[in-house]
Amino acid sequence: MINEAKNLLNQYFGYTDFRSGQAEIIDNILHQRNTLGILPTGGGKSICFQIPALLFQGTTIVISPLISLMKDQVDALTAADIPATYINSSLTQKELQDCLYDIRHGVYKLVYVAPERFDSDYFIDVLNSIQIPLIAFDEAHCISQWGHDFRPSYRSIVSSLKKLNQQPMIVALTATATQNVADEIRNLLHIGQQDTFKNGFARENLSFNVIKGANKRDYILSYLKEHSKESGIIYTSSRKETDGLYNYLSLQGFSVAKYHAGLSEFERKQAQEQFVYDEKQIMIATNAFGMGIDKSNVRFVLHYNLPKNLEAYYQEAGRAGRDGDESECILLFSKQDIQLQKFLIEQSTFDPEIREQDYNKLNQMIMYCHTEECLQSYIIQYFDPNETEMKCKKCSSCKDTREKVEITREAQMIFSCCKRMGERFGTTLIAQVLKGSNQKRIRELGFDQLSTYGLLRSQSEKEIVDTINYLLTEDYMQLTDGKYPVVLLTEKSIPVLKGETTVWMKKSKTPVKEARAVEENEELFEVLRGLRKQFAQKENVPPFVIFSDATLKEM
Ligand code: ADP
Ligand code: MG
Ligand code: ZN
Repeated sequence: MINEAKNLLNQYFGYTDFRSGQAEIIDNILHQRNTLGILPTGGGKSICFQIPALLFQGTTIVISPLISLMKDQVDALTAADIPATYINSSLTQKELQDCLYDIRHGVYKLVYVAPERFDSDYFIDVLNSIQIPLIAFDEAHCISQWGHDFRPSYRSIVSSLKKLNQQPMIVALTATATQNVADEIRNLLHIGQQDTFKNGFARENLSFNVIKGANKRDYILSYLKEHSKESGIIYTSSRKETDGLYNYLSLQGFSVAKYHAGLSEFERKQAQEQFVYDEKQIMIATNAFGMGIDKSNVRFVLHYNLPKNLEAYYQEAGRAGRDGDESECILLFSKQDIQLQKFLIEQSTFDPEIREQDYNKLNQMIMYCHTEECLQSYIIQYFDPNETEMKCKKCSSCKDTREKVEITREAQMIFSCCKRMGERFGTTLIAQVLKGSNQKRIRELGFDQLSTYGLLRSQSEKEIVDTINYLLTEDYMQLTDGKYPVVLLTEKSIPVLKGETTVWMKKSKTPVKEARAVEENEELFEVLRGLRKQFAQKENVPPFVIFSDATLKEM
């Protein structure tokens, strides 16, 4: 039956696929069950009763609160060759008579009526003379006194329904998803909890991605090259960064516009128009860009920096794919961005409570970047903890098929190396030493003499950098601020070095390579084993003493 529904969707409405929620709601109605559908504004609620109306024998009655809404929908249906009409106070007496005559003769598949119509016994008579498979309550929150638009006439329909000589199925549709409203609608219209379909927050055409530890400019460059025909927004966290990225991408020959609060009103208006009318393909902007902008074919929203919280992120990312086509939301995560957001929190308020709230929200945002759960699911549950967990099957978490592998030994090597280099260098140099790189600088610094030199030579430098970045995001190590951030060890690395905890990371499996690495590094493992014993015996030895030169020589 649902396949038939899909054919009708193509045939009458010209759409290839149902939007999220629509198929479930329609399927439930086709299974003869009273149904409550909660879809966001613009989510496509009308089709949820229009398609069943086409599939059922008889005339579906649609209750709608606004004359203008009825007229628009009936016009659209008529244009699609679906026989439909409306009855409301805008009709003359003659029009009303003609209309009711046609309804009696089963001319229409759908009849839109204002709720007051049910107060008329004559109208009830007409309904009793025809077959009514389905009554749809559009904007069903109007029935609830908890809703923002309560209409007593909506509620009184409930008693009028008893005067019908048949029991049509009921479908209620609304965008208002609060518990109270939903409960009241269900109670009044006899709809079961299990017949409720909610799609308040999920955006099924968006795929969410978190990219960690990438060189951001390189990433954007290759992304834009791969998506050269598509329109997108790149959000940065500061005007300076917007300017910088704009200049960089302009020089690379991309069609870019920029938008931030530091530009004149004219410049901003111009940039916005160029973007909306597809004269410029990519908008680079701060969060000043977006309010009230409705560009439907935005295919990607790329966050160059970490947003301050998930509300802001979802709103900005949600500007992708308004037309319902598949679109991507990508967040480039780097640990340094956290510092900026913390700084902004410190700047924005002195109220300790608000500050704490802001920090909590920021932490949730950071957790989003680290979660292995479905990202869409994570966001939905953030907004509504009652939501059940699901898998979107296309976010970077869902698509991550790599298995977790233990990297305790690698981590130990990295920590040791970092420590032996004096905790004075950045990610790249540490990786190069572990790789056993032949760089002049490494020789000059004498790092080719370290016992950790070349310990990870079986891996590529990039692999080592990835692992270091992972250890950074997992707080085993941290970066100092500044232009040339230095890697430091944190408390969390100590139990790893002591062999008390293990470290796991999702990695593409290369078992052969790993086996070889183990062999090659057997020597180091001996050293580490000895180290562990040492710790086991002397509980109170400060953990980093082992890295002093004297200990090194001992090793
Ligand atoms: P709502 O009542 O939920 O606010 P509408 O029913 O008015 O939304 O639909 C909003 C828009 O989405 C309409 O232009 C409609 O034609 C379009 N639409 C509905 N379903 C689909 C679909 N499956 N694919 C593409 N567009 C759709
Ligand atoms: Mg609607
Ligand atoms: Zn997912």
